[in-house]
Amino acid sequence: MVFYISCTFQFYNVFGSSAGNSVYESECNNLIQTTKVVANIYKINGALTKDVDSQYRISIISKDGNVIADSYLDEVSSLPNHLNRPEIIKANEDEPLVFIRHSDSLDCDMFFYAEKINLSDGDYFFVRISSPASNFISYLKKSMVIAILILIISSIIAIYLSSKVSKKVTQQFSNIKESIKCVNDEKFSKIKLDNDYPEIRSIVQEINDLENKILKQINDAKFEQNKLSSIIANINEGILVLNGNGSNLLVSDEGYRGVIIQLYRNYGDITVKGNEIHATAGALLSQIAAAAKNASLTGFEFAGGIPGTLGGAVVMNAGAYGGEMKDVLKEVTVMTAAGEILVLPAEKLEMGYRTSLVKTKGYLVLSAVIVLEQGNQEAIKARMKELTEQRVSKQPLEFPSAGSTFKRPEGYFAGKLIMDAGLRGYQTGGAQVSEKHCGFVINKDNATAADVCRLLRDVQDKVKEQFGVTMEPEVKRVGRF
Ligand SMILES: Cc1cc2nc3c(=O)[nH]c(=O)nc-3n(C[C@H](O)[C@H](O)[C@H](O)COP(=O)(O)OP(=O)(O)OC[C@H]3O[C@@H](n4cnc5c(N)ncnc54)[C@H](O)[C@@H]3O)c2cc1C
Repeated sequence: MVFYISCTFQFYNVFGSSAGNSVYESECNNLIQTTKVVANIYKINGALTKDVDSQYRISIISKDGNVIADSYLDEVSSLPNHLNRPEIIKANEDEPLVFIRHSDSLDCDMFFYAEKINLSDGDYFFVRISSPASNFISYLKKSMVIAILILIISSIIAIYLSSKVSKKVTQQFSNIKESIKCVNDEKFSKIKLDNDYPEIRSIVQEINDLENKILKQINDAKFEQNKLSSIIANINEGILVLNGNGSNLLVSDEGYRGVIIQLYRNYGDITVKGNEIHATAGALLSQIAAAAKNASLTGFEFAGGIPGTLGGAVVMNAGAYGGEMKDVLKEVTVMTAAGEILVLPAEKLEMGYRTSLVKTKGYLVLSAVIVLEQGNQEAIKARMKELTEQRVSKQPLEFPSAGSTFKRPEGYFAGKLIMDAGLRGYQTGGAQVSEKHCGFVINKDNATAADVCRLLRDVQDKVKEQFGVTMEPEVKRVGRF
């Protein structure tokens, strides 16, 4: 009994400082141990149910299942059917277990454990001890509070430690966030690489590189956007397609507030196919003439010295020394303002003196097919040389000009009319009627477009006055005059 009480004492001690689960196990073990001790004492003494601690109830059960002694009841008169109690069944099978179940007689949950006592004569009894579950529950409640407290404290410690440990990481992430915000605000500054973790450092490095790239793209896009908006804001004079060198244009002193698309540099393919030359609009007339000469094709020598492109020459029906574009064109591919592509045969081009259907309709020349004849290469070469010499000797090529300034009036020569009007060398500002060839207005000395216009008007007035002939400028004006 002394042992039994000390066990109980020990039980309280252990329980007070343990977590719920181990308290439960400890109490179970205590119950088992106590039962074994009681069973052992019972085996020696033959009877023991008195002076049992109030929290335990000891029953001695015969092999028939009848209670023959009970610490709770003074008189025990064969309480039957104990053999079907789970703890007794288990003890009988030599696999004793602690059971928790409700006791109807005591009206509470109880912990039960039974030990089988084999007696020497082959007979046996069961010693069974039970204890109210309330003992356990109060312990469990108490330990739960402690467990929760421990949990809270350990959580606080864990949070504190983890926040300390991860401070560097989180700091870095907030730097990244800030930096991304800065990129948006266009105040990009690199994120400092102040983290000890190599992986985070490399991520930050990558983000820095990426942000640099994004910023560059944003800036590039902004630049393009500004460029585009300034172009759009200035397109108040329209879009001018300038396929050639602008050799036949007089541009206003105010410039041209619109878009000029110059295609010729990237659009100048020339292919010789038998007697035909297929060329795109940007091909220079001089290059086409050279290709024709190389292929021994004659008929294009007249155009070799005309500065400009195939597109401009088709539009203007350029011509010189008895030849004109209309004489050599087979067909022209154009694009309409609506974007439609048309292939126009020569007979439909309505080509006249420095004009064409392409000009009146405002089509865009894309390409053309020129038909020539087989000839003698040497003769072609000689003819081209001759025409070049004529040009050089007769035209004021040493000065900038737009070529023949006026169209040839019906039945006259513009240059001769101007000369006969006494205008050779006539000058307004820096613009002058060429002394070498009166059909040319040259830029003698920093002439402005206004100088040229005044000179053209003077020439027109004087020729009209003297000969009654209207002179129409061949030069195209671009911009405001
Ligand atoms: C020194 C000198 C000598 C010259 N001699 C001659 C000569 O002997 N004979 C002669 O005829 N001319 C002559 N010219 C004028 C000029 O060279 C020609 O009119 C030439 O054909 C213009 O070609 P370009 O490619 O320079 O056209 P640009 O002057 O650029 O353009 C002329 C017109 O054609 C339009 N245009 C150009 N390309 C296309 C296209 N692909 N589609 C639609 N429209 C287009 C332009 O918008 C513009 O209205 C001379 C000019 C100079 C400066």
